Amino acid sequence: MKRVLITGGSRGIGAAILEAFAAAGDRVAFVYRQNDGAAERMAAKSGAFAIKADVSDPDEVRRAVREATEALGGAPDVLINNAGVASLCLSRDLSDAEFRRVLDTNLSAVFYFCREVQGAMIAKGFGRIVNIGSMWGKVGASCEVAYSAAKAGVRGLTMALAKELGPSGITVNCVEPGVIDTDMNASLDADARAELADATPLCRLGTAKEVADAVLFLSSENAAFITGQCLGVDGGFAV
Ligand code: NDP
Repeated sequence: MKRVLITGGSRGIGAAILEAFAAAGDRVAFVYRQNDGAAERMAAKSGAFAIKADVSDPDEVRRAVREATEALGGAPDVLINNAGVASLCLSRDLSDAEFRRVLDTNLSAVFYFCREVQGAMIAKGFGRIVNIGSMWGKVGASCEVAYSAAKAGVRGLTMALAKELGPSGITVNCVEPGVIDTDMNASLDADARAELADATPLCRLGTAKEVADAVLFLSSENAAFITGQCLGVDGGFAV
């Protein structure tokens, strides 16, 4: 039984990751921002502990990790940095505030959580951290300058932290999804979805469960010698 902390576990990919860990018998706490109804449903369904906090605020992150440690009966062995926001906009129209919001939620938050949980992991000599990046952090997306920059930052953070924490028995990896059928893509119309499926060598969008399966693997004993890696779960899109 592992103690697992997941950010953005109320919906989409995070909810699938939560269900996978809960089904494996692990103890899970998750963070969400505002959707109380979705969080309550996930908590009731899975037995996981819900924490309402804004991952882009370092004080809120400190509180969330404290609450998770209490609810889990000990510090997390596994941290999944999944919470994220997308933002579609021409770069010339992108405001300072929106650029910072996207960077803070997708990248700074990953740093804040990694900073908070690592002390206990180092003391135990064991830890697993999986960051959810995006294929757009690898190849860049038009009209998603802030999002692509943040997710490219997640790649760099993952590799650097893997080197820093490896000697302490902690692995740090990144999963980079392609186009996955979640609320984040709810605004895409049928034509846009078909175009994205066409551009994917496996000819379809991915599912949240397919991302969760990769996250579970990287958190498992079977991945004990894998660290600093960015694993694409994108149907071949970014090859
Ligand atoms: P969703 O929009 O479906 O869910 C986002 C989750 O993150 C929700 O649980 C939401 O909480 C939480 N969240 C958002 N902002 C904050 C915040 N400031 N503080 C706390 N929690 C927050 O997203 P997906 O499941 O689609 O995406 C999950 C991850 O996967 C993201 O990092 C995303 O960038 C990445 N990804 C997704 C892809 C896709 O095609 N869907 C492709 C590539 C990467 P609440 O319910 O309260 O709003």
